[in-house]
Amino acid sequence: MTSLAKRAQHRFNKTILREYDVRGVVGSTLFVEDAYALGRAFASVVRRKGAKRLAVGYDGRMTSPELAAALAEGIADAGISVVRIECGPSPMLYFATFTLDVDGGVMVTGSHNPPDYNGFKMNFDKMPFFGESIQELGRLAAEGSYESGRGEIGDERVFEPYVARLLEEYQADRPLKVAWDMGNGAAGEVVQALTARLPGTHILLNETIDGSFPAHHPDPTVPENLVQLRQTVVAEACDLGIAFDGDGDRIGVVDETGEILWGDQIMLLLARDVLLQNPGAPIIADVKASQVLFDGIAEAGGRPIMWKTGHSVIKAKMAELNSPFAGEMSAHLFFADRYYGYDDAVYAAIRLLNVLGNGAGSLSAFRLALPKVVNTPEIRFPCSEERKTIVVAEVKARLAAEGADVIDIDGVRVQCDEGWWLLRASNTQDVLVARCEAADEAGLARLKAMVDAQLRASGLEPPVY
Ligand SMILES: [Zn+2]
Repeated sequence: MTSLAKRAQHRFNKTILREYDVRGVVGSTLFVEDAYALGRAFASVVRRKGAKRLAVGYDGRMTSPELAAALAEGIADAGISVVRIECGPSPMLYFATFTLDVDGGVMVTGSHNPPDYNGFKMNFDKMPFFGESIQELGRLAAEGSYESGRGEIGDERVFEPYVARLLEEYQADRPLKVAWDMGNGAAGEVVQALTARLPGTHILLNETIDGSFPAHHPDPTVPENLVQLRQTVVAEACDLGIAFDGDGDRIGVVDETGEILWGDQIMLLLARDVLLQNPGAPIIADVKASQVLFDGIAEAGGRPIMWKTGHSVIKAKMAELNSPFAGEMSAHLFFADRYYGYDDAVYAAIRLLNVLGNGAGSLSAFRLALPKVVNTPEIRFPCSEERKTIVVAEVKARLAAEGADVIDIDGVRVQCDEGWWLLRASNTQDVLVARCEAADEAGLARLKAMVDAQLRASGLEPPVY
């Protein structure tokens, strides 16, 4: 650490303090000095709330060890002790915050982003640290109103206890043949250790942790990143394929025919299983999810709750409602049923193996039995920071004047005879997000026309679907 890095006042590039995390391009918007300042600011805030120790984890990116070291220095200089854990996925850090004697933790991760990105996800008191709290860190650093002192920096091993906890959950009768694509992300070593001890046959793809992501982008919500997994599942006659994003908090699933199951479909399969033990329980999904999911939850005896998009707000809602299971279209899946309530894609994979290994049907049979709807994926299109929320407010006002049936917990989700359409402003990027779902193609075309008309009325070009 240079003396410059430890200077009392610090200004972050304004783009890196985001809604749910801190993220930037290393060497361009994010520097090692930011890691130190963030650690010191975050530790100062939590020390004022009585915290004494924080865990620090890091993913497999090339810049993660250096950022984690500077972060730990910053935390220690605020008088908070640091417990460093091994390289691994974000959920392993969350596991550490629930099982070690710490008050919270920081994960150094760029999630699914390109190799030159990196960032930080913070937890305090077993809840995500997000929104205004992150902006507050920026103000605190700019003023240099840090706590001082010298916390200890030590190491603890959670890799083995974490893998053991995942294994403990496995209870399938029928061993399965599974292809796993880690995308060279941070879950690679965990999944190697896990599958070596699981019954069944396991084919591992891109399991070596490599921050240059040589095979493909570690983002399983993008179909082009699932090509290799789909081919392997079909060629090797697997029961299913499972993929993870770069930090192991989002899952991708492919059925035995090589077809992709989307986040809301995976959720429905798992929600049915959770509801067997938790009849009547509230199950939370975000506004982007299909109506098929909400209807399916109700049909399975659950209470479907539609909530805002964003893993931090979903987690907070789960705690508020004491919900056993929640998820997002983006395939963050949160189990409080038998687990800790954070988004752990490797844990979700074990639950999925249990459902399949204890049931008679295949994944494709599940998929094909779902009510038929046609929908667009999530359409994201650019709109400036200043305009994006104004556009949504304008659309909402026009819809209210028309007396439309609108759910407005996050943007507008409009229900009509054809189905539903959604328009919301992203919290993390300067984009608007649209999605439409109808019973048939003709209905879908009419829904897209409704979205387009609203955007034109606000002076925007419609997106390319
Ligand atoms: Zn992630």
